[in-house]
Amino acid sequence: MRPTVIVTGGGTGIGRAVAARFAADDAEVIITGRRAEVLARTADQIEGKVRAVELDCTEPRTVQQFADREITRTTVLVNNAGGNTDFDRTTPGDLPQLAAAWRQNLESNLISAVLMTEALLPTMAEGASIVSIGSIAADKGAGSYGAAKAGLASWNIDLARRVGTRGITANVVSPGYIADTEFFRDALTDDRKAGLIEAAMTKRAGDPTDIAETVAFLASPAARQITAQTLAVNGGEWPTR
Ligand code: NDP
Repeated sequence: MRPTVIVTGGGTGIGRAVAARFAADDAEVIITGRRAEVLARTADQIEGKVRAVELDCTEPRTVQQFADREITRTTVLVNNAGGNTDFDRTTPGDLPQLAAAWRQNLESNLISAVLMTEALLPTMAEGASIVSIGSIAADKGAGSYGAAKAGLASWNIDLARRVGTRGITANVVSPGYIADTEFFRDALTDDRKAGLIEAAMTKRAGDPTDIAETVAFLASPAARQITAQTLAVNGGEWPTR
């Protein structure tokens, strides 16, 4: 049977590359996001079976309706939706604003993955793969965004423990700087970009396909004993051992 792959935030950047990677392998791919026109364009551009579903994955009711309506058997779930929501806000001026800013990053990067996963878990296929996109920011520290991605990695360990006996793996892929996405909006200066590239041992920016290939590996038969891990894809910018 054709694998069913769900990629949240699949309309742009890393998510789009992940969707294209699985579609090239003849999977049935569903991409989700909040902007219908962006999703429709991406689904048209990718060769293969890609379906676009408009969905805000921080909304519990809509996520549940999506799971009840669309999904019978997920084989790969890629929790990719997210980003640093502080980029779209002014600096908080008081505690209520600070609370709102923190809540938005936690919702966008952590709660979104928790809701999608919990909604799909009951009907998920035996031997399925859950891959969530973390960030180097979790290790380097980056306010509420880094904290949300660190929380994602911690939650992933508990998730992996719960689903292991169903043959389901759960891992986090943690990118360093990846070019050609909407992550930085249009706010990344040439100097900052050069600094990020210089910080990598490979002296290049990551590409969305670097992440897509890692996700595809973690979802493959070759990776069935890899679970509860955070795998860094950052050109050596942040070494681990
Ligand atoms: P993009 O901004 O291009 O992609 C993020 C996608 O997520 C968009 O398509 C957006 O679509 C979607 N999205 C955001 N919030 C929601 C939501 N609530 N519900 C549904 N979809 C949502 O950036 P990237 O491709 O770079 O980001 C992908 C992931 O990689 C993110 O989790 C990001 O934190 C992570 N990352 C990126 C790095 C980089 O350097 N680019 C580095 C480290 C981690 P829409 O707005 O239409 O909903």
